[in-house]
Amino acid sequence: MRPHPSESKVADIGRAVDGRRIVNETEGWMRGLIACRNNLSPATPLRGARITGVLHMTAQTAVLIETLSALGADLRWCSSNAFSTQDSVAAAVAKARSASIFAWKGQTPQEYWWCVKKACTWPGGKGPNLILDTGGDLTHLIHVGVDYEISYERTGAPPPHLLGLEPAEESAVILNMLRDQYLRNPAHWRELVQEVVGVCEQTSSGVHRLRQRESNGSLLFPAMSINDCITKSKIENIYGIKHSVLNGLLCALDVMLAGKTVLICGFGDVGMGCAMAMKAAGARCLVAETDPVRALMAGMEGYQVTTIETVLSEVDMFITATGDSGVIRMEHMLKMKKNAVVGNMGHFNREIDMESLRKYPGTKAIEVKPNVQRWTFQDGHSITLLAEGRLLNLICGTGNPSLVMSIAFTLQVLTQAHLWKNRNLAQTLPTVCVPPRKIDTQAALYHLPCIGAELTVSTNNPISSNEVL
Ligand code: SAH
Repeated sequence: MRPHPSESKVADIGRAVDGRRIVNETEGWMRGLIACRNNLSPATPLRGARITGVLHMTAQTAVLIETLSALGADLRWCSSNAFSTQDSVAAAVAKARSASIFAWKGQTPQEYWWCVKKACTWPGGKGPNLILDTGGDLTHLIHVGVDYEISYERTGAPPPHLLGLEPAEESAVILNMLRDQYLRNPAHWRELVQEVVGVCEQTSSGVHRLRQRESNGSLLFPAMSINDCITKSKIENIYGIKHSVLNGLLCALDVMLAGKTVLICGFGDVGMGCAMAMKAAGARCLVAETDPVRALMAGMEGYQVTTIETVLSEVDMFITATGDSGVIRMEHMLKMKKNAVVGNMGHFNREIDMESLRKYPGTKAIEVKPNVQRWTFQDGHSITLLAEGRLLNLICGTGNPSLVMSIAFTLQVLTQAHLWKNRNLAQTLPTVCVPPRKIDTQAALYHLPCIGAELTVSTNNPISSNEVL
């Protein structure tokens, strides 16, 4: 049964026609994913699977959703970020009944977590068999839901570690939600977890959270790290970012990059993509790193490796891509150049210390345009802040381009089908695995025609037909 549009909650279902035009156009740029859809859909390998997806509700994601639906899955979806939804696209997917959608651009923390909860609750109360997560919020909710029930049963109170979570506002929202759910069904999350076959995680920060759970023995279901596939980390992350950091910056600002001094904090795959883009645009690009190996790599690429404190007064634009928190702090912002641009390309909104900025005495923010703020300090000097410290590529712009998303989403589709096919295999302790290499190979094969590449067939080591899924 396909979901009725009234089961979804989007900003305005009336925008579905516009959204459909965008999705159709996007399909044209995602030929690899469409080829995968056309190949696999006759066998409906995801028939019977309930999938919850938590991933930016963009045009590219719409093509992913409609591929999973064509393969037979029953889908519920929300965005992984309160500001990244493209409202017309969300309307188009809901109208087409491809999934139940709970997503709109500009959500409060309450609304965001309400959407996550709705996306993992089918009518009748059942949860998902398969999860597609981005950053790990749904995985986190399920795990703390189980902790909450066990703790309440034993002690009559929530687990102490839940109370100290940061940011405080979000953990209060989660706690309220868990309390309500506990009153309705005190075994809800434990019942739900029984039916989860596994999660496919899209991002590096989500995989980091999963590995922490794996190492402290608290992981409740198997996890697949899509982010560790080569076509994801070394293609989507690097080249997608190389493109989308510029897309985001140029949508937000009328800035000439040539001749500017830019500091990239973090030289992982995302930071590397940012640095490549800045260099190509003619900026003077500096890199800050905490990891000696990555610092050396950046140096070998010709970037000056330095610290934020050393270059504070000469930098025109600061971009974070570390996955860490508190990278740009008040003490830095107070001493930056007049109207220095500050933006984040890493996960979540913690790399720039927004909480301190908001609370700092005498600061004032004005909105220059949506997602661009000018913050003025008591002494009269000011900085330009993008997307309130959230992902600037997805909030100021449209995120990574369709071609690289097509590659990453082909990995997602093949890995979801792989998990579902093997759902009855005896499970030992849940672990975090990388999808089989043949999934990476297949995703690449689907996309070679998109860049006009012709593969040389090795006489010694040809790709065998059983590598083709
Ligand atoms: N919840 C975190 C997650 C980081 S999102 C946060 O909001 O900060 C980073 C992910 O967004 C990347 O792994 C990338 O695969 C995905 N992404 C980038 N461009 C996208 C697009 N156009 N559509 C959908 N997802 C996109």
